Amino acid sequence: MSAKTAGSVPASAASSPAVEFRGVTMRFGAFTAVEAVDLAVRAGDYLVLLGPSGGGKTTLLNILGGFLTPSAGRVLIEGRDVTALPPARRPTTTVFQDYALFPHMTIEANVGFGLRMRRIGGAERAARVARALELVGLAETARRRPHELSGGQRQRIALARALVVEPSVLLLDEPLGALDLKLRRQMQEELKAIQRRVGTTFVHVTHDQEEAMAIADEIVVMNGGRIEDRGAPERVYLRPRTRFTATFMGDNNVLEGRPAGDGSFETPIGRFPLEVAEAVAALSLRPEHLHLETGPGRLPAGTALLEESSFFGTHHQGVARHESGNSLRLRLPQQDAPAPGERLSLFLDPADLVPLAE
Ligand code: ATP
Repeated sequence: MSAKTAGSVPASAASSPAVEFRGVTMRFGAFTAVEAVDLAVRAGDYLVLLGPSGGGKTTLLNILGGFLTPSAGRVLIEGRDVTALPPARRPTTTVFQDYALFPHMTIEANVGFGLRMRRIGGAERAARVARALELVGLAETARRRPHELSGGQRQRIALARALVVEPSVLLLDEPLGALDLKLRRQMQEELKAIQRRVGTTFVHVTHDQEEAMAIADEIVVMNGGRIEDRGAPERVYLRPRTRFTATFMGDNNVLEGRPAGDGSFETPIGRFPLEVAEAVAALSLRPEHLHLETGPGRLPAGTALLEESSFFGTHHQGVARHESGNSLRLRLPQQDAPAPGERLSLFLDPADLVPLAE
């Protein structure tokens, strides 16, 4: 499996996105699962579709893979309209959560299956299978059968099987959902490293925000069949656009309020200098941006009574009742953290307040 070099990509393909959804809508009877989605994925990117159950992620992935035909709109892969093409005629392969390996076949036969279907045989097939197994670090398992491997190893074999045919786009549907947490985190790192090595565009569906942040070049947040937000993980986490993204991506405080008209914004925990559009009615503030001490750029944000605190290893997570009556989520230090019942003085840097669109 060769890494795709710029020289081997035709100029037209290099200039078009790897994937483009244009006005894609999917209706099931009267129900709209995906609504007017426009989305372009850059070639070589690791894109993660993130959202709650029922948000439309899998439907969008299935439309890309050719397992569903959209009710409206078009799908392009490397500039070519594939909307009407069946899965086997698209330059895509899919890795599913349940691996879907053939139990009676050896690992090498499983990995080589797609090549056999494409009538690639003999030495070339053997060499490509060997390279794919090496890529996922499982060369020594070639002669075994799936039941002789662990869950994590089987998932890596499913990945090798999907990559061996050198798809333009690899689709992953909750690929780590069946693994325990530790293995899941380890596999996330491996997935990303493998994607970097092969340079293939990956589109990965998950509802796990930590997984999305750990592996994505770009996160697309879906809710109710629509794209709520999209961008690099840091941007989506630190500057969420909507109330939904602010609360779905990690812990957050949404402060209701209004612009005071003098370049400041009125919230229940204080009035802070912040230029925002007239329509803004809420700000997001991450728990780690509420401080217990003053510092450069920080302003007082009143006091709060710590009600609960839970230990998370790297920090304590606290819930406090602000003097205004509002409940606030705090991230407290790992050591010497305040105990429930203590009254805390709070400070924040207005630069950490993020206006929410809706
Ligand atoms: P999950 O994380 O649970 O898989 P998702 O974001 O992937 O969620 P989808 O599977 O895309 O969500 O489903 C979106 C909505 O479309 C859901 O409300 C689902 O019930 C509905 N839906 C999906 N497939 C069908 C179908 N074949 N017929 C009717 N409704 C469907």
